[in-house]
Amino acid sequence: MQSDRLTVLISGAGIAGATLAALLGRAGHEVTVVERDQGVRSSGNPVDVRKGAYQVAERLGVMSRLQDAATKVRELIFVDNAGRRVASMRTRQSDREVEVPRADLSAILVEAGRSNAEFLFDEMINKLHPDDRGVEVIFDRAATRRFDLVVGADGINSGVRRLAFGPEADFVEPLGMYVATATLGVPLERDDLVIMHNEPGTAVALHPGTGVSGVAFMFRSEVRIDHRDPDAGRQLLKEVYRGVGWRTEELLSAYLATDDVYFDSISRIRMPTWSRGRVTLLGDAASCVSLFGDGSSSAMEGAATLAAALGESPHDIPTALARYESAHRAVTRPRQRGVLIASHLLIPRSRLGIALRDQALRLVGRR
Ligand SMILES: Cc1cc2nc3c(=O)[nH]c(=O)nc-3n(C[C@H](O)[C@H](O)[C@H](O)COP(=O)(O)OP(=O)(O)OC[C@H]3O[C@@H](n4cnc5c(N)ncnc54)[C@H](O)[C@@H]3O)c2cc1C
Repeated sequence: MQSDRLTVLISGAGIAGATLAALLGRAGHEVTVVERDQGVRSSGNPVDVRKGAYQVAERLGVMSRLQDAATKVRELIFVDNAGRRVASMRTRQSDREVEVPRADLSAILVEAGRSNAEFLFDEMINKLHPDDRGVEVIFDRAATRRFDLVVGADGINSGVRRLAFGPEADFVEPLGMYVATATLGVPLERDDLVIMHNEPGTAVALHPGTGVSGVAFMFRSEVRIDHRDPDAGRQLLKEVYRGVGWRTEELLSAYLATDDVYFDSISRIRMPTWSRGRVTLLGDAASCVSLFGDGSSSAMEGAATLAAALGESPHDIPTALARYESAHRAVTRPRQRGVLIASHLLIPRSRLGIALRDQALRLVGRR
């Protein structure tokens, strides 16, 4: 008789990969996770756990840890050159959501999966040889092994996607925007406010974090650079933010002096299909909604949908993968569409756009 216990390899111990490892490990599957980095990296802004992701966190029993690690942020205020509030919006829609620094969320999810899954850090997949019954995997350092299923949860620049589906350029749609974040520890008076300043095509935001504040630069630029080249990112930031007012000069100098930064293009991933045989994609690798679109919540929800589909038909992986894709695409499709709307709100292109946004927020606030 065929066993219900699958051997699953997950590439990436980020939000999607760690959630899936915890869920599949608890369901009794034999799970291995390979993560390119040496451990959980500390960079990254706070991210939201809301909607279906909140329920996933409850199921994993990590809600109280997430509450302890959560920020107190409830409001985003927009300020002018002199730091005066010109408009604001609420950031929390319900009591069933938390905002948690990305590194904390990632560490808590990895911890939740550790006792039921094998984690190999500083490791990656070099080659995949799929056949009808499984996938032979050649690793960078570990010995070659076979798995029933390989999941690429390795983020927007997924290595599994490149190996199984082809070059990144075929699937990545750059939206002409970039994001750069760093933890700076600049003292802030309030721990419940994010402060943002806009000039046409640029936003700079100070986030209180959880005791240690962070900065985020989000900007529009048609210049194409390699996001893996830190010097190119720093150079572009210097050019784009030259002469931008408020506290930008001070914050940019602090960012440029920091090593532990996150820099990426804001892109949408568009894949005609998420699975090829026994290789499938999850999280940003499959359907990045980048920055404004609930990327972390989508990643956790997708992991739960995939785990449920595999639980329903462990002997028929293609059917399980088709079910996962059809259900989770219905969740990510509208979120991907929402990215451009959110970008007009947070990074207006013109002074008129900024003024109209501020006016609209003031009208909403008066109601
Ligand atoms: C260090 C870091 C900081 C981030 N900061 C922000 C931020 O400030 N704002 C924001 O909006 N989004 C940020 N993100 C992206 C955000 O976490 C994701 O959009 C979202 O959580 C979806 O999660 P994911 O698991 O699909 O991807 P990710 O959270 O990106 O996780 C992917 C994981 O795969 C690993 N990986 C990548 N390539 C390979 C490979 N070839 N082999 C093995 N492992 C690999 C990565 O190291 C990472 O751990 C950050 C991501 C990372 C990795």
